[in-house]
Amino acid sequence: MKRLLRHLLLLSLVTASTWAALPKVALFTTGGTIQSKGAFRTKLYEYSDGRVTPAELLADLPELAEIAEIEVKEMSNVGSGNIDTALLLRLAKEITATLAKDDVAGAVVTHGTSTLEETAYFLHLTVKSEKPVVVVGAMRPFTAISRDGPFNLYNAVRVATTAEAQGKGVLVVLNDTIHSARFVTKGHTYHVETFVDRDLGPLGYTDSDRVVFYRQPLTRHTVKSEFDVSQLDTLPMVDIVYGYQEASAAPIDALIAAGAKGIILNDGAPSFAKAGQRAQGAGVILVQSDRKGAGRVVLTERMAGRGVITADNLNAQKARILLRLALTKTSNPRELQRIFNEY
Ligand code: ASP
Repeated sequence: MKRLLRHLLLLSLVTASTWAALPKVALFTTGGTIQSKGAFRTKLYEYSDGRVTPAELLADLPELAEIAEIEVKEMSNVGSGNIDTALLLRLAKEITATLAKDDVAGAVVTHGTSTLEETAYFLHLTVKSEKPVVVVGAMRPFTAISRDGPFNLYNAVRVATTAEAQGKGVLVVLNDTIHSARFVTKGHTYHVETFVDRDLGPLGYTDSDRVVFYRQPLTRHTVKSEFDVSQLDTLPMVDIVYGYQEASAAPIDALIAAGAKGIILNDGAPSFAKAGQRAQGAGVILVQSDRKGAGRVVLTERMAGRGVITADNLNAQKARILLRLALTKTSNPRELQRIFNEY
């Protein structure tokens, strides 16, 4: 009897310590395809036949409970086209506050893939923690044959509980690949391997034996970022104008009239020169990005002479995110260029 009691005591101690040892991960859910339902299993687009709740996501993936204690924070349940400034600011503030707690190892954010890179980069610039923040999505709905969501979510939680993931800024995990929020972009309309880093490649992989990193971003982020959104409840209006043959200047003039504080020029067109001067005359900041998707926009004498900021190798949608934050600090062109060179 004494021996049985000793064994039972030992067993309960081991069980308790194993349970207590599981890292806690805060799961912030926002929606997207990873939380979408289609009417049948081969419906891989136009699937708006219901939303998956966080509870359904977890019930569908019991393996998660073997690697982490998940604490759910439902922020929204929408397609990522509906993500707005209010939600971005709430996310940044709540993730920073949650990661400040000692017992929280990391955070995972579910998100639609269409604008995932914008939210991920925003958090990369604003979350004040070295702990891992991993943004995850899916290209096939929850109801589809060979859906990619559950394994993406499982791998995102693995990365959020991996020590090597600390201090690397915000990460994006899909299709067994770990990307930096600074360099990743959605590169295909429906393939599961849609996220690419054209210029510099991914940071690592979530292989079945271990999570492995080969590189880390050197541009400023998270705790080394000068941007503080803790007191902000809105951000300056910044929009994007696309350049192509014979592009009209009308969008630039319309944005000036609409009160834009900044315009990202995605490539150029002859009409942009005069319209750009009108914009600058109205105090609007111009940033030159490029639609080719790889390579830096080099600061030419002509651009410097015109006071146009270059976006480095940020695509237009990320340059917009950075300019909105930068304009909360300064509208001095030299300072703005420093910011685009450092982030
Ligand atoms: N339209 C979806 C979204 O961004 C696409 C996806 O999640 O893959 O919300």
